[in-house]
Amino acid sequence: MNHIQLVNDWDQWCWEGFRYGLYSVSKARQMIDKFDQHDTSHPTFWYKFVPIKINVFIWRLRLRRLPTKSNLLAKGMEFENDNCCVCDNGLEDDLHAFANCVNSKLIWLKVASWINLDIPSWNSLDGLRSWVDGVPIIGNHKTIVTAIIYSTLWNIWRLRNSSTFKDSKFRKCHVLDSIVVDSFNWLYARFKKSRVNWTVWLQNPLNAL
Ligand SMILES: [Zn+2]
Repeated sequence: MNHIQLVNDWDQWCWEGFRYGLYSVSKARQMIDKFDQHDTSHPTFWYKFVPIKINVFIWRLRLRRLPTKSNLLAKGMEFENDNCCVCDNGLEDDLHAFANCVNSKLIWLKVASWINLDIPSWNSLDGLRSWVDGVPIIGNHKTIVTAIIYSTLWNIWRLRNSSTFKDSKFRKCHVLDSIVVDSFNWLYARFKKSRVNWTVWLQNPLNAL
């Protein structure tokens, strides 16, 4: 205790992750990348044009921490049926739920048709992101494509959850509409200077911003 010097001031919280003791999300993210992400070539990505819950969802998906049946089985949970609740054909793991499920494939095809881009088959989130990184930089195309990809993943997961928990409010016929509306609302709320045009968004989203 001899080396501790007390000062005549109020107690306050101090974050040890940065030398000035002030917390910030960007510094926390840098720490995560430095200490926990040694095995990946991509740093943690915080995308400011989508809600925080979506960034957290994508982060969990990338770390393979979503509660798919495969991940829950690995933790000791048991199910009467390990199959995907959407198609009932194959173990529900990350890759099946988001890429290989016959229903997910159909959703990706519909999204590709809407944005008029060929979205390739993918077998990892980093692979999907590499494709997004390769989209030619014309205006805000990359931002728009990223928002739409995130919205697609999010709504595939919503459908998975509604199927798993027998919630009939969100059905297959709602998914594409929800992808379109969610991605529009995210960008509309965050692009203050140039608002996204809804009519153009429906017809050709890459030109809507
Ligand atoms: Zn399936």
